Formats: sequence, C-alpha cells, structure tokens
Amino acid sequence: MSSTDVLPGTLVVLSGPSGVGKSTVAMKLIAEKGGYVRSISVTTREPREEKGRKEVDGVDYRFISVEEFNRLTEQDELVEHANVYGNFYGTPKEPLRQALKDHKAYLLVIDVEGASQIRGKGYSSEFIYLLPPNNEELLKRIENRGAQDENDKTVRMSAVAMEVERAMKIYNHMVVNDDLDQCVDDVHRHVIDHRRKLLEKKKAGETLYPGLNLKD
Ligand code: 5GP
Repeated sequence: MSSTDVLPGTLVVLSGPSGVGKSTVAMKLIAEKGGYVRSISVTTREPREEKGRKEVDGVDYRFISVEEFNRLTEQDELVEHANVYGNFYGTPKEPLRQALKDHKAYLLVIDVEGASQIRGKGYSSEFIYLLPPNNEELLKRIENRGAQDENDKTVRMSAVAMEVERAMKIYNHMVVNDDLDQCVDDVHRHVIDHRRKLLEKKKAGETLYPGLNLKD
C-alpha cells in the first residue's frame, strides 16, 4: 500500500498541444510516483503496425466492433467519445470505476474537446493542460512534427493559440513543460492537493462522481 492509497481516487485529465510531452509525463507519473493508472480507450479502428510492432488489444487500445461501441454509448458506459476520421474512440466507464474503488489516480490523455465533454459531467476531476516553455519551443516542436511551409506553421501556431485560450476556461491548472522532472513533480503535486480536497468533500457527504453509480 502506498501513501496515496488513503486518499480518494480521482480522474486526471491531461492535455496539451501536439508534441508537448503528454505521453512522457503520463509514463513518468506511473513509473515514478505510484498510485496512477492510465486509461485505455476503446476504438473501432483496426490495430496498426508501426516500426515492426503491432498494436496489442488491451495495451494500446481495446479494439472493439461498431456494434459493441454502439452498445456502450446506448448504455451510457462511455465517459466521453469522438469520431476521428471515421473511426469511433471512447473512454469506458468500467475501468474508471475500478480505479476509483482502488484509490488510484486515473490518467486520461485526451484532447480539449474530450476534456470539455468530461467537464459537463460534473465529476470531481483534475484538469491539467501542459504548455511548451515558449513560442520558439512550440514552433520547433511543430516543425519536428512535419509542418510543411511558413503558411502551414502559421496556421498551426494560431490553432494552438486558440486552443490554449479555450483550455484556460476548462482546465484547473496550466503547467509548463520546460524541465521534464519539474513538470512531472508539478503535475503530481496538483493531483495530490486535489485528492486531499476530495477527502474533505467525501467526509462532507458529497457525491464526487455523479452518474458513475459508485457504491461508496
Ligand atoms: P490514433 O488512431 O492515431 O491512435 O488516434 C487518433 C485520434 O484519436 C488521436 O487524436 C487521439 O487523441 C484520439 N483518441 C484516442 N483515444 C480517444 C478517446 O478515448 N477519446 C477521444 N475523444 N479521442 C481519442
């Protein structure tokens, strides 16, 4: 049992512009801090093979049929979902319920649209948006991710600026990823503070996750 197991579990939504390091931060939280579990999305797309490695069901995604996806949406068993380029993706509720029962911080690496859907649920979640240290760094990351020409770069930069503006209304914390270890520490501190506050809310008898039908 780790020290965080005495605190209530929570849902942690982690977002940020492409290339900011969301997956790396999530991986380090799980590996180094303890008490974190990462959500595995369901998807209707086929597993892909990249760099000689084929995606694994239950590790990269849970690969399901469209019928199964429809059943999950009809039964209100997805926290949020989206159609991306013709394939369906979603966050299933059941592993979240299990993580909350186990007093874990359930990490969801997701875009602002998905986060906005979750905001609407009234869950006591922690919303953290990662920022690159400055515009030059962001531009460098955009270039590394294959921006073609000056026009393309400008379009992507202004899309990021608009997203950040929207994120400021949705997320509880904006954390700069300049030094990776510092960033991981900052995110972890916010999560622990949040979970301490949840303990108080729980003692006061508040329902922390309406619609999840938790028995506690
Ligand atoms: P890919 O098929 O390349 O793995 O992912 C395509 C897109 O789907 C990415 O932008 C990814 O962030 C998004 N995606 C993956 N899982 C989920 C999910 O559970 N919910 C939502 N809303 N989007 C997801």
